[in-house]
Amino acid sequence: MKEIGHYIGGKRVAGTSGRTSDVFNPATGEVEAKVALASAAELNAAIENAKAAQPAWAAMNPQRRARVFMKFVDLLHRDMDKLAEALSREHGKTLPDARGDVIRGLEVAEFCIGAPHLLKGEFSEGAGPGIDLHSVRQPLGVVAGITPFNFPAMIPMWKFCPAIVCGNAFILKPSERDPSVPIMLAELMLEAGLPAGILNVVNGDKEAVDGILDHKDIMAVGFVGSTAIAEYVYTRGCAAGKRVQCFGGAKNHMLIMPDADMDQAVDALVGAGYGAAGERCMAVSVAVPVGEGTADKLMEKLVPRVENLKIAPYTAGDDADFGPLVTKAAHDRVKGYVDKGVAEGADLVVDGRNFKMQGYENGFFIGGCLFDHVTKDMSIYTDEIFGPVLSVVRAKTYEEGLDLAMSHEYGNGVAIFTRDGDAARDFASRINIGMVGINVPIPVPLAYYTFGGWKRSGFGDLNQHGPDAFRFYTRTKTITSRWPSGIKDGADFAIPTMN
Ligand code: NAD
Repeated sequence: MKEIGHYIGGKRVAGTSGRTSDVFNPATGEVEAKVALASAAELNAAIENAKAAQPAWAAMNPQRRARVFMKFVDLLHRDMDKLAEALSREHGKTLPDARGDVIRGLEVAEFCIGAPHLLKGEFSEGAGPGIDLHSVRQPLGVVAGITPFNFPAMIPMWKFCPAIVCGNAFILKPSERDPSVPIMLAELMLEAGLPAGILNVVNGDKEAVDGILDHKDIMAVGFVGSTAIAEYVYTRGCAAGKRVQCFGGAKNHMLIMPDADMDQAVDALVGAGYGAAGERCMAVSVAVPVGEGTADKLMEKLVPRVENLKIAPYTAGDDADFGPLVTKAAHDRVKGYVDKGVAEGADLVVDGRNFKMQGYENGFFIGGCLFDHVTKDMSIYTDEIFGPVLSVVRAKTYEEGLDLAMSHEYGNGVAIFTRDGDAARDFASRINIGMVGINVPIPVPLAYYTFGGWKRSGFGDLNQHGPDAFRFYTRTKTITSRWPSGIKDGADFAIPTMN
């Protein structure tokens, strides 16, 4: 049985805790590897390593640090197919989706090439008599990222690229469900010229996470995962005096206005509701047709599309809509929600619960499910299901649809489909959700903007990637200096005398 250990000090090392977790091929249902779960001692060794390597890395000028990312981008392109294959094998998503996972992370690496510009400080000449004032942005030291299973390439890169280019050393604790790609990324960073010890991958579970949160030398923690764990990490990390940003779960609504292009809206719902088997934090899981007759028009086109979704293992070719769920537990959880939706009285128009993939009967497959007449009190509406399940909640008016999305506890993404500019602008302005799409179902911002949800989808005051990440992973120091150094007046310089 293949064993996946850690990546510490620039090399793969075996786990020593004696604890492991199974890594599945979700298409076959077979255990393909065992991943080591780090003990506190193994984590501490990685942190020591990172701490020793960090000062020299921080002292290297930013353009040289940026050049590592130029090379890293090339290596990601070179190894794209290899990375995508390893990713699909453990996650279950289709190969085009896996390539997308790598590419959206690669774009963050590209943005980091601009670090020399992004890390510039500020300068005021003559801020007082003979006084100059300037600020510099300095790295924090050793920082950590804790990431989920659903984007095992993109989300680790959201975290480690900006942190490292700012001059920090990084401890990545990826998901134990698909651990191969994060280690491959760390190897590529070393090949690109990153010194050993700057990017360390420590596999593990709660024990490793708690070790990170409590360790005095970890200065900042970036987390992405489910909301319950995000809240836990935020609370515990803040209590330990760290900088913490945590991004959690979602329930993303898409309003379909009566004037929307119905074919475009249906295409969008099929891709955003069912792509990657719904295992995306930006998946649309609630469709809200607005106004008399809109729902009927929508369902007429949507139902046959959901009935004919192509589900297949990633090895079957690139034209599948989605593959299996990540684990049996995830499969059973999603199926349990569909059962609950039926019991709660929603109308299950397309039932994918009994879908079996021929030749892959032990795989974690489930067919697309579509509910109509879902109401606000049902658990299929309140909870994040994280599977290929779309709920239709009918709204009589625009205000009712807007209020529905606004009163949900999650606030990651939202979309409106309309040809009315007034409605689109009003929606974008009033909605209390972090990422908004107008005729775009999954409004994931590009790497040079920031990514972050509101309400119970995001905790902490800065978003991920983009310029916010450069703020999160650095701290500002201000320096006041007097020139020429021998100047006599202003010797008792204090703020009021500056005028
Ligand atoms: P998860 O919360 O189960 O795991 C996330 C990380 O936390 C993993 O590294 C895991 O090992 C660790 N973890 C799990 N249980 C823990 C515990 N009890 N104590 C400490 N650490 C623990 O999430 P997941 O199932 O891997 O990912 C799916 C979730 O992530 C969904 O809720 C999805 O919406 C969310 N997500 C959010 C974003 C975003 O940017 N908002 C992006 C992607 C995924």
